[in-house]
Amino acid sequence: FSFFSSEMNQLAQERLALETALRSAILTRQLHLHYQPQVDMETGKLYGVEALARWTHPELGEISPVRFIPLAEECGLIADLGHWALREACRQLSAWRAQGHEVPAVSVNLSPTSFHNLDLPRMIAATLAVHALQPKDLTLEITESVLLDTNPSTMKTIAEVHANGIRLAMDDFGTGYSSLSYLRRLPVNELKLDRSFVADLGNDEAARALSAAILGIGKSLHLTVVAEGVETAEQNLLLREQGYPVAQGYLFSRPLAPQDFESWLRQAAAGKAAAVA
Ligand code: C2E
Ligand code: MG
Ligand code: MG
Repeated sequence: FSFFSSEMNQLAQERLALETALRSAILTRQLHLHYQPQVDMETGKLYGVEALARWTHPELGEISPVRFIPLAEECGLIADLGHWALREACRQLSAWRAQGHEVPAVSVNLSPTSFHNLDLPRMIAATLAVHALQPKDLTLEITESVLLDTNPSTMKTIAEVHANGIRLAMDDFGTGYSSLSYLRRLPVNELKLDRSFVADLGNDEAARALSAAILGIGKSLHLTVVAEGVETAEQNLLLREQGYPVAQGYLFSRPLAPQDFESWLRQAAAGKAAAVA
């Protein structure tokens, strides 16, 4: 037996409508990328930017990636979305450089599904070449869920991308299955401390101990550790005292549309010039 209610029918219809809309959004360029700066804690200079997908639906308005990324995953659109994000982020980085903006690197979030494609390394190399970028200009952010992926191509593709000199970052570190053995299996260059640890830094001794421990793990493996979700000056200070090299969060900036990010860059440069004078 299975039970089916009218509410379920309505939910299913809503989902189907959203799925159709997402399909056309990818084709009609309703999707865009926002960029969030990552800041070098010691110098205050820009370390890189993370590209984050945004969907402005003509009727529903802004739809969060927390909603449409899983939808893209379920309806088989995630690989297309990942390719689009890679191409768009590379195009934007190269455009900024042509305008004289110093943007050291861009990070793109990729779902484990994108790594099923054995052609991904070639596709990335071709995209970098079109935009005259170097492999080190690009970081791919992956989550621990990539390890639960049983597709035989995944590890091979990851290894090849790494061998080509593209950096890999482990996103939301410390929240997943937290088996440290994968740090030996995956060729990552960067760990991103999950923002839940950062949120509790000020009032939770355990969160402070864990953020210090994660930095220790990262350092001993020669990985760059990036603290995510830094919102307050207090959190920033605690992370600096612990020795965190890079931070990202609303304290520095929200994710911004390209033009707004350019203004942010100009303001940051003016701020630094004023500090020197
Ligand atoms: P993520 O990769 O961990 O991205 C960081 C999220 O934290 C972003 O949410 C960002 O807006 C948010 N954030 C940044 N600073 C702060 C802060 O100080 N405080 C708080 N509370 N939040 C902060 P967003 O943009 O809603 O993205 C959510 C997730 O959606 C991302 O998490 C990522 O997993 C996924 N995502 C976004 N864009 C893409 C994409 O192009 N491809 C794939 N596969 N996933 C994406
Ligand atoms: Mg990310
Ligand atoms: Mg994250």
